[in-house]
Amino acid sequence: MAKTGTKGVWIQLIAILAGAAAVFISCRSGDAVIETRFFLGTACNITVYSGGHKTAVDHAFMRVEEIEDRMSVNIESSEVSEINRNAGMHPVKVSADTFFVIEEALETSKLSGGALDITVGPLVETWSIGSESAHIPVDAEIIGLLSLVDYTQVVIDRIKQTVFLEKKGMRIDLGAVAKGYAADAAEKILKKEGVERGIIDFGGNIRVFGSKPKEEPWRVGIQKPDSMRGEYFGIISGGEMSVVSSGTYERYFEAGGVRYHHILDPETGYPVQNDLASATVVASEGLRADALSTAVFVMGLEEGFRLLKTISDAEGIFITEDMKAVLTPGLEDRFVLTDKSYTITSRRTVPTQ
Ligand code: AMP
Ligand code: MG
Repeated sequence: MAKTGTKGVWIQLIAILAGAAAVFISCRSGDAVIETRFFLGTACNITVYSGGHKTAVDHAFMRVEEIEDRMSVNIESSEVSEINRNAGMHPVKVSADTFFVIEEALETSKLSGGALDITVGPLVETWSIGSESAHIPVDAEIIGLLSLVDYTQVVIDRIKQTVFLEKKGMRIDLGAVAKGYAADAAEKILKKEGVERGIIDFGGNIRVFGSKPKEEPWRVGIQKPDSMRGEYFGIISGGEMSVVSSGTYERYFEAGGVRYHHILDPETGYPVQNDLASATVVASEGLRADALSTAVFVMGLEEGFRLLKTISDAEGIFITEDMKAVLTPGLEDRFVLTDKSYTITSRRTVPTQ
């Protein structure tokens, strides 16, 4: 039986704590302004340094709230809820924000052969992983819902800025991409208001911007998939970048000794089962990193690695369940392993699983 009741609450708490998929580990606190608020289903932290001030951080969070109001499936008046309510009936005019995120997600769906598929909404809702009502649906229910999962049936019109789901009952869910976009948007506000450098950490979806004093690189720790306490197994260094992880540990419940986690395979309707515990993508933009980290996690080591090799500004680290870390070549000089219980390989050729 699935763990529910108080366990469900506990699972949610774990989800929030373990949501720190990538952990920032190197910061000075002297002149920093640090704020945490709860948006997009997760704890959102903004830390600003040089030129940073509370008003800028407040404005950045207002922007994040605006994005949540537009994209959350849990807000009835959101544009995404409106698109879902009108599935099979009418196209819905949306803001430039929502249109851009959906357009980008669909691009990544194409690149990943449908591994990332924002039309997983009906499955996400039924499994309810991360909530008290999380449970294993019966096979027949999953099979029925799979007929509603198909990103090629999302019709977008760039001129009219509309989105239309072709089939009644289809639902989109932007949980795999919205946090990355929100981090990019928050950074824009902060920079516009004179902040020279800072860290945006939206539930482990990390964005570092500006340069550190004396041109030191940023250092971002990558969460150990087997740990709940935000511990890291290695560090990525670099300039402005987004570092986003997807993994089995972020939201899940356990039943009969099996872990049912929140990243669903659009082919089977069940949580993805491959040898991966997590996939981290480093890219120049948060939206791209967020979309790709979910996509390559679903694709698995071999296919995911192959995809990242074709994308010039994205690198990745795959962690297998037996604690092997596989790096794309671009990270060779930028990643340091800090936990020796992991073994590390950097691959120029596509690994076989
Ligand atoms: P992330 O943590 O960015 O990997 O995104 C996971 C979230 O995206 C889940 O909590 C779901 O809301 C949604 N999701 C789950 N599986 C998929 C998928 N295959 N494609 C797109 N979104 C998904
Ligand atoms: Mg994602």
